[in-house]
Amino acid sequence: MELSYILNELGEDRELYFNAVAPPILQTSNFAAKTVADLRHMLQHEPEAHLYTRGNNPTVTILEKKIAALEGAEHAIAFGSGIAAVSAAILSQVSAGDHIVSVKKPYTWTNALMKRFLPRFGVEVTMVDGTDPENYRAAIKPNTRLLYMESPNSYTFELQDIAAIAAIAKEHNCTTIIDNSFASPINQNPIALGVDLVVHSCTKYIGGHSDVMGGIICGPRAMINKIFEREYMTLGAVLSPHDSWLLIRGLRTLPIRMERVAANTRQVVEYLVSHPKVAHVNFPFLPLHPQYELAHKQLRNNTGQFSILLKTKDISKVEAFCNKLQHFLMAASWGGHESLIYPIAAAYTVGGLKPSLPFNLVRFYIGLEAPDYLINDIEQALSEI
Ligand SMILES: *Cc1c(COP(=O)(O)O)cnc(C)c1O
Repeated sequence: MELSYILNELGEDRELYFNAVAPPILQTSNFAAKTVADLRHMLQHEPEAHLYTRGNNPTVTILEKKIAALEGAEHAIAFGSGIAAVSAAILSQVSAGDHIVSVKKPYTWTNALMKRFLPRFGVEVTMVDGTDPENYRAAIKPNTRLLYMESPNSYTFELQDIAAIAAIAKEHNCTTIIDNSFASPINQNPIALGVDLVVHSCTKYIGGHSDVMGGIICGPRAMINKIFEREYMTLGAVLSPHDSWLLIRGLRTLPIRMERVAANTRQVVEYLVSHPKVAHVNFPFLPLHPQYELAHKQLRNNTGQFSILLKTKDISKVEAFCNKLQHFLMAASWGGHESLIYPIAAAYTVGGLKPSLPFNLVRFYIGLEAPDYLINDIEQALSEI
């Protein structure tokens, strides 16, 4: 299916709403039946029928159809946040007594789900270095049900070989889930590589303007319908019609935003890589990166995240660098119009916590500003190191 068709036409029945170009926000909790027979039909066909907005809402459905198509999936189901989608996807695949093999260092709250929440329900998780698919194979036990990936993954942007891990999962009758948020549906489509369920935090690139939260699971119709009947309807983390509308609006410009973000990021990385005050840049699209080939094999382009290690042993210098930046906001999240930094140094003071990541690691997200504007800002801030 053509990208232009997906983003501009798919799922939009304009003649149903006065040929309006933008879809209506169907801000309703409820849908009425004309007759008992109608209501009976609605109840029997709830995965498709419009009965109640914690279920189906036409504005949300437009978004689901478009993202499913972007991922080459049969179907998709939207949630009120990325982590709601991650949690529902994982919970849908396990029961008490089951085992999961996950990549190490997944997104913070995915990590919390696996380490603190799932053990309460008798689900055990082994976390492996995902850079070698054989680590997944080695961790599989007779009760392993799920192999979980996040590629590129949080903070250090290591990749997993998605096709290889999906093949190992098939050999062992395990399901695979990948959090594809960092790549965006424009740059990586894991279903074509054999993955079962693809999850996105729509809060990031898909929304693209730092003004809405959402999440989505894409996959085979039967698996998504099962999630609808169980995790979606019982846990109830639905996406509102208005937020769906904002995400549909975000989708219209997703490819051009991804293009600009990619080009900007390459320029900023090029500047940083040769800078004497930068010890290391974590970015798989650098020719010397050990996963350079894999990056080109499974991603269409780079995205806007990377991290650096500043060349200093003094945490106060790291702080001075971060505080001196004028045009980077210091914030969590990423994927919007605005460039951001997230210094791991900030985690070092909270209650004497010692994170596993080094204090001189600063995560960058490069947005839509002019690259020189950003590079000049980094240049003046690096005088602190
Ligand atoms: C932000 C993020 C999430 C969680 O998404 P929310 O919309 O904030 O709930 C999940 N995975 C990754 C990789 C993320 O960066």
